[in-house]
Amino acid sequence: MKKKTVIVMTALFFLMTGACAGLSGGTAGRGTSVSTAASVSPITDITEALNTSITISIYDSTDKSLIVQCFDLIKKYEKMFSRTDKDSEIYALNEKGEADVSDETLELIKTGLQYSKDTNGRFNIAIEPLTSLWNFSSESPKVPADADIKKALDHLDYTRIKIEGNHVTLPDKGSGIDLGAIAKGYIADKVKTFLLDKGVKSALINLGGNVLLVGSKPDGSDFAVGLQDPFGNRNEYKDVVKASDLSIVTSGTYERNFTENGKTYHHILNPATGYPYDNGLAAVTIISGKSVEGDALSTSCFALGLEDGMKFAEEHGVQTLFVTTDGSYHYSKGYSYK
Ligand code: ADP
Ligand code: MG
Repeated sequence: MKKKTVIVMTALFFLMTGACAGLSGGTAGRGTSVSTAASVSPITDITEALNTSITISIYDSTDKSLIVQCFDLIKKYEKMFSRTDKDSEIYALNEKGEADVSDETLELIKTGLQYSKDTNGRFNIAIEPLTSLWNFSSESPKVPADADIKKALDHLDYTRIKIEGNHVTLPDKGSGIDLGAIAKGYIADKVKTFLLDKGVKSALINLGGNVLLVGSKPDGSDFAVGLQDPFGNRNEYKDVVKASDLSIVTSGTYERNFTENGKTYHHILNPATGYPYDNGLAAVTIISGKSVEGDALSTSCFALGLEDGMKFAEEHGVQTLFVTTDGSYHYSKGYSYK
């Protein structure tokens, strides 16, 4: 699927010499670019999945079949979690209003429900009627009719989702689940586990800006992950996270958006109004151990706004960077990834 006004992220790997090689260039992927001042060139490959550009780079193996297996794993999970793929478990659940789901889908739904509760519904796992209406990933998204938005608001009650064993029942015919805010993080964690099981100790998993680091650079030093400037062109970054073995996830207004009559609409929606959050935030970056936590928190904190979002992240023991629409950068207390 094409996204028109989406800013594209390209993973750049800067070698010791300072020369750089642009490795993606596809139609999607955004938020974070990765630079590694590494003396060892990784094996690396790019694919399109999860509606974005995926890059995997492995520094301590020459076995390219590992990357192929990572891509297969990603596509397997996409087949389960996609809101739009007619063969997915989530599609079937949303169509029928109830379904038996796999353990993994169940786990992800439960995670989403927990964040929905903890944010009082600012993050809402039952946002699907709204996201389907806005359809940000379509060729030419448009602002939906206000009456349709109002109708969708009646079907977002995540508190009425029932789970008995692996059987999930939605509140009513018009309701649905959207795992878009957490699936990439969850899948990144699965890919990391796979690579660790294969003995890989130094790698980068980049699912469209949802970055998960496996270990450190081959020489034992930190990776450097460039955070895209929300107001700059693609791959322009003002800040770099230096870290090893961590997840770096950003949610931002620049990631998926379109402009209509001079107003820009982005893809993190306020379940109270039906329109994109308009709270003075441009981007939220979460640095965490598990990528599913980073993904859930980046969207949750974005939805909560600067003050409550900072508090929420602190309660979860993660470090963050919030960028506000005035261009200011707000770091969590004791931020240590400079
Ligand atoms: P991205 O998917 O671009 O990395 P996020 O992780 O922030 O960005 O997730 C945004 C996605 O989450 C949207 O595309 C949509 O599928 C879903 N979403 C939108 N608004 C909400 C919300 N209030 N609560 C939960 N999920 C949401
Ligand atoms: Mg997210």
